[in-house]
Amino acid sequence: MNEMLLKGHPCFDKEAAGHIARVHLPVAPKCNIQCKYCSRKYDCINEGRPGVSSAVLSPAQATLYLEKISQVVKPGVVGIAGPGDAFAEPEKTLETLDRCRRLFPEMLFCLSTNGLNAPDYVDAVASLGVTHVTVTINALDPRVATSIYSWVRCKKRNYRGLDAAEILLERQIETVRRLKERGLIVKINTLLIPGINEGEIPSVARKACELGCDLMNIIPLIPVKGTEFADLKEPSCKIVEEMRSSAGTYIRQSRHCKRCRADAAGLLGDDMRQEISELLRDAAN
Ligand code: SF4
Ligand code: SF4
Repeated sequence: MNEMLLKGHPCFDKEAAGHIARVHLPVAPKCNIQCKYCSRKYDCINEGRPGVSSAVLSPAQATLYLEKISQVVKPGVVGIAGPGDAFAEPEKTLETLDRCRRLFPEMLFCLSTNGLNAPDYVDAVASLGVTHVTVTINALDPRVATSIYSWVRCKKRNYRGLDAAEILLERQIETVRRLKERGLIVKINTLLIPGINEGEIPSVARKACELGCDLMNIIPLIPVKGTEFADLKEPSCKIVEEMRSSAGTYIRQSRHCKRCRADAAGLLGDDMRQEISELLRDAAN
């Protein structure tokens, strides 16, 4: 079952990436944590990285957009990957899934999240037919995590420092545990941040394996202007490969992630920004 589902999703299976298209619906602009590498832009066509989108849509607009873009790219998978976190405003994510599922019952649905607010919604998303979830976990040691996250907002309270790191980590693990209990396919994304979390990669991989996760995706940091990590260097391919090999002793590694935008559509690696942008803006107006 899991193997079959893995093979139907281009981000979870390299072979599927050559012929199955995905559509991201940018309905989640807000975030409940601040990663020191993140800068989100909602009206940007120039950058090709996570966190950017040409527009942000309401659930109703997203449905309309999905109908239009489906005529262009024939997607097999629909996902919510920001530009913020899918569970910062969970009601929007759930409504979008519900609307799109009714329209396209045959498609696979996926989400990505930092995991903080996700434990309470695992049953809901599973019931709405989501089969694949990506949880980003960048460190297991809370002291290391304090260097990666500026703050965390959980259940209407703000946290910083070790408190923030401990709450985030505990809830990330709980999210993964519940997702696996519900039988979903889980990928762990880990940003490789030079000088900050190299030492954490094997521990995250080991934990992901213990929790029964299906795949790990080690993503080299993109240093973005205006963020606290703007002056770090992007890790070399050699270092990324070394990290993947060491983590690969615990859990299967993804090696084909394209670090896509929050409004990406088409086959992985296709650059359809212009067409997407026009359709998104039509749907948003
Ligand atoms: Fe940005 Fe994602 Fe981190 Fe939120 S969880 S701050 S959207 S990278
Ligand atoms: Fe797939 Fe990576 Fe692109 Fe996400 S960023 S849609 S995992 S290829």
